Amino acid sequence: MSGSAPSGKMPDVRPGRLSAADIERNFSDLHPPLTRSEALIEADRCYFCYDAPCTVACPTDIDIPGFIQKIRSGNIKGSAHTILRENIMGGMCARVCPTEVLCEEACVRNTHEDKPVRIGLLQRYATDPVLDDSVALFTRAAPSGHRVAVAGAGPAGLSCAHRLAVLGHDVVVFNRDPKPGGLNEYGVAAYKTLDDFAQREVEYILGIGGIEIVNGAVFGRNTALAELREEFDAVFLGVGLSGSNELGIENEHVEGVRNAIDYIRDLRQAEDKSVLPVGRRIVVIGGGMTAIDIAVQSKLLGAETVDLVYRRGREAMGASPYEQALAQTNGVTIRHWAKPSRILADERVLGVEFEQTALDADGRLVGTGAFWALEADVVFKAVGQTLAFDAGADDVLLQKHKAKLIVDEERRTSLPGVWAGGDCVSDGDDLTVTAVQHGKLAAISIDRYLREQHSASALAVGESG
Ligand SMILES: Cc1cc2nc3c(=O)[nH]c(=O)nc-3n(C[C@H](O)[C@H](O)[C@H](O)COP(=O)(O)OP(=O)(O)OC[C@H]3O[C@@H](n4cnc5c(N)ncnc54)[C@H](O)[C@@H]3O)c2cc1C
Ligand code: SF4
Repeated sequence: MSGSAPSGKMPDVRPGRLSAADIERNFSDLHPPLTRSEALIEADRCYFCYDAPCTVACPTDIDIPGFIQKIRSGNIKGSAHTILRENIMGGMCARVCPTEVLCEEACVRNTHEDKPVRIGLLQRYATDPVLDDSVALFTRAAPSGHRVAVAGAGPAGLSCAHRLAVLGHDVVVFNRDPKPGGLNEYGVAAYKTLDDFAQREVEYILGIGGIEIVNGAVFGRNTALAELREEFDAVFLGVGLSGSNELGIENEHVEGVRNAIDYIRDLRQAEDKSVLPVGRRIVVIGGGMTAIDIAVQSKLLGAETVDLVYRRGREAMGASPYEQALAQTNGVTIRHWAKPSRILADERVLGVEFEQTALDADGRLVGTGAFWALEADVVFKAVGQTLAFDAGADDVLLQKHKAKLIVDEERRTSLPGVWAGGDCVSDGDDLTVTAVQHGKLAAISIDRYLREQHSASALAVGESG
């Protein structure tokens, strides 16, 4: 509906818009795994470029031609080792990485035939058997005697914990959620990670030994940073972004207006998706991956109309062109250049009024004064996440930029003995693979720091003796 106020009919929100069988079919694997012969044909397409632009584009520096070569020669275990030694979540990243803007965009096959080597699927081909059969590929170094605290069991925290454990340190992970995995478990679209893969991957990571996870431990409430710094030799913060941005408009908190991330969480945890209440007409506000994911998944659950409204143009959207196309092929209508001006409601949501937007002469986004409205049974807000944790007395010492933690190249914060990485730091790009890399870099830096501390104290003991 455009141009007039919604009619105020009863909201239509109910479970079972589609049969359980239809929903199961809709939520099947987005990119099904390759068969052996498909993998061999795909591996044969690789030129094994000496400068490997695909590896340069990979945030975790995986030796991509190296692992593809091992697939070719039938050495699947060796291939998985090449991947997992750089990225312990290589299995999840094979499913969720936007490869179309990373390794596969850089693949030289694009130039020759406009079709990159399917690196993501080959990575999955190599890593799945290792995780399925719990094949141990790493061993721990001799115990260092050091203990490190990690806050958050998402990709950043788990990657850091695993590398530290490999290097011989003991790790305790304090995690707010009831299950480990972070957004791998509670956020990523259900059709990207099936069959409890997120938990199987966590189990694989913990298989190294030396990592204890304390779930339900809210850092800042029942665990203070000052205490962790006192009790442990180093601390890594991988707490992600658990607050949600507000729209700051009238009626934002009426029934029927929800944070997309909360509904996605329910969706990911539902054993039976057909019992989830689904609106007939859904409006999504936002332009990033979360907006696309809630829009597509609403359609797959049986919503009749899903309108995604973004305040700028297509090219400014956080979601990649591939994700935007995915939404459109699933029947989502994407509308650009409009911002919500108020939620239309009586006791609950009836719709959203939007104001058309444009860029002014200075390139600033402004409202044009033209208004229109969409009727909605449910409105999802997907306008970004914020850092929501309290470091107590130490908080003032943790430098921030745009409400995220500032870290250096080694992921050191401004507070001595405290590192941070993943979505909660200011120089990331809010991708799983980047969080994994941050955790790995922090662990390498922490290890160096602990060894330097150790040799300095050994020297001091030697001198005084
Ligand atoms: C809906 C959605 C879909 C996404 N889809 C993709 C995708 O397809 N591909 C992709 O690459 N990226 C995707 N992302 C981004 C990706 O999930 C994140 O970049 C990644 O999970 C960040 O990892 P992290 O470890 O920094 O934080 P998180 O995954 O958020 O993990 C943070 C962990 O810290 C814990 N925690 C939080 N606060 C505290 C506290 N105070 N004390 C103790 N523990 C705490 C939480 O319980 C959680 O386990 C998506 C994000 C969202 C929201
Ligand atoms: S750029 Fe493409 S062809 Fe070259 S090594 Fe990487 S995957 Fe192979």
